[in-house]
Parts: sequence; structure tokens; C-alpha cells
Amino acid sequence: MTSAAAAPAPATVLVFLDPAFENGRVADASLPQLMATDQGATRGDGVFESLLAVGGQPRKLQAHLNRLAGSARLMELDIPAEDVWRRAIGTAISEYRSRHLPAGAETGAEADELVVKLLVTRGVEGAAATTCWVQASAPGPSGRRQRETGIDVLLLDRGYDSEVGERAPWLLLGAKTLSYAVNMAALRYAHKQGADDVIFTSADGMVLEGPTSTVLLAHLETTDDGAGGVRTVRRLITPQQDSGILPGTSQGALFTAAKAAGWELGYGPLEPKDLLDADAVWLISSIRLLAPVNHIDGQEIGTPELRKQLTAELNALYATIG
Ligand code: PLP
Repeated sequence: MTSAAAAPAPATVLVFLDPAFENGRVADASLPQLMATDQGATRGDGVFESLLAVGGQPRKLQAHLNRLAGSARLMELDIPAEDVWRRAIGTAISEYRSRHLPAGAETGAEADELVVKLLVTRGVEGAAATTCWVQASAPGPSGRRQRETGIDVLLLDRGYDSEVGERAPWLLLGAKTLSYAVNMAALRYAHKQGADDVIFTSADGMVLEGPTSTVLLAHLETTDDGAGGVRTVRRLITPQQDSGILPGTSQGALFTAAKAAGWELGYGPLEPKDLLDADAVWLISSIRLLAPVNHIDGQEIGTPELRKQLTAELNALYATIG
């Protein structure tokens, strides 16, 4: 019996930021839209953001706009004001939903997730203006699957020490630049070894980040509650933020929610043995959300029950984030 061909992914919606169009200019994603001499294409010279919209609402939008502005500042790129981005994002989401989610269609939370990318390039060679656009598309199936099944991860050396970000700001380690070829190569390398993802380490042996995600670990500790009983201290830890990694908006939002729920928070420094000794490890990012790590370099992290329980607990906290 032959299976039915998979339905083609719904077409991406493009909205260019264009001073002649207050809410952005909708463009046809099936036609060429960039000049071949755009420095985004010729040099990967630009910055971007990827965020999730659920039920038509972008999540953590202000945090993404703040990071976009920070990345642009590091790259000395002039970008449009926040309200211009917000209007173009609104256009992209409503255009996508009106094209692909007809009224009355089943729009459960999962069916109604959209990836919204904000892109900025240094513009066409010789011209003074940046090229900026918003793109809305359907998330790929693997992220959702990995949230549920978890992932196997390889530790890979990024080749820089953990202090290079401070010493060599031109490496732009804290900016979300368009130059992701190295990150994608690391993922391909991991896939060839049968793993799903990567945690980069520094040349001096510190845990850094994933190619598209922030590292988190949890430790549970049972202590005396001072009244003859015991209490469990829950600790959530992420690598040192000044070690040349991208500050994660998902990690930041989850930390705020976890703190309010009584978790203790920590910010590295972390070494690989800290990951292997943890009760649970996750890679967290805006689109895939929390992906529990089952194995690192073949070694199991915690137990399946503990991973499941802690992942459910943190997912519930993350769901409270606006
Ligand atoms: N670190 C890197 C290198 C990333 O590319 C990303 C996201 O793509 C993250 C961390 C996670 O950031 P966020 O939680 O804001 O999606």
C-alpha cells in the first residue's frame, strides 16, 4: 500500500519594511525579492530573530525586539523603530492566518504555531540602507517531536576560549548574526554521528550553548526543613552569560517564571561533568521550546521519570509566559 504524499508546507509570507507602506509591503515568497548584491546574501552580513506566534500572538516580542536592537548595535546597523517592526509582524501573522487558517478550521494551540523571523541585512552593496523584512512560516515537524521524545547531544569544541567574547568583540559572539554556517555545520556533524543536537564547549573546557539554543540544567537537593521534615530545593542553572554566548530570551523568561515558583537560579560557570551529573538537562529556544536531553556523548542524563517530571514542571511554567 502506498502512503499518501505529504501535503506541501504552506507558503511562507514575506513582509518587507518599506517607508512607503505603513504596515509593511507584502511580497511574493515564490518570486526573487532580494538583489543578488545584497550583503546579507554575499557576506551573511546582518542580524535576525526567530520567535514563535501562538494563536496569532507573538511570544516574548519585546525581548526579541530588544535583542534585535542589541545585535544591530554591535554590528553598527541602523534599523527601523520598534513600532515599524511591530506593524510588519502584525501584517505577516494576519496575512499568514488569513491565507492558511480558513475561518472555522481546527486551530488547537499546536496547530496554530507560527515561526516569525525578523531579518536585517546591511543592504545592497554601495547603497546606504539596510534591507529588512519579516517572514512567517509553519514550524518544521522535528521540533515538536523533539519536545516530546527528547534529544541525544554531542559535546563539540567551538575552538574559542570562554573569555574571547570580551577580548575580541569583533567576533560578535553576543549578537544573533546571519552567519550561521558554522552552527549548521556542527548540527550536520552531529546528525552524521547519529545525534540530534550539539552543546558547544570552549577551548578552556566550559559549557557554552547549542548552535540554536541555550543550555539549562536542573539539580534537585533534599535538605532538612528545620522542622523534622525534608524539603526539596530545585535549582535551575545556565552557563555564564559573559562567556561568548547569545543571551537566550527563552531562558530569561523561564528563569523569571521559575524564580517566582520558588526555584533557585544559577549562572555557571559549567563544565561538562556538571551536565553529566545533573538531574536533567535541556536545550531551550523560542521555536522548539524545552527539548529534554536524553544522552550526552552516549551517557544518560538523570532517569526517564525524572526528566519527564521536571520537563512537565518547566513546560507548565513556560506556558505562563506572555
Ligand atoms: N543560542 C543561540 C546560538 C541561538 O541561535 C538561539 C536561538 O536561536 C538561542 C541561544 C536561544 O535563544 P532564544 O531562546 O531567544 O530563542
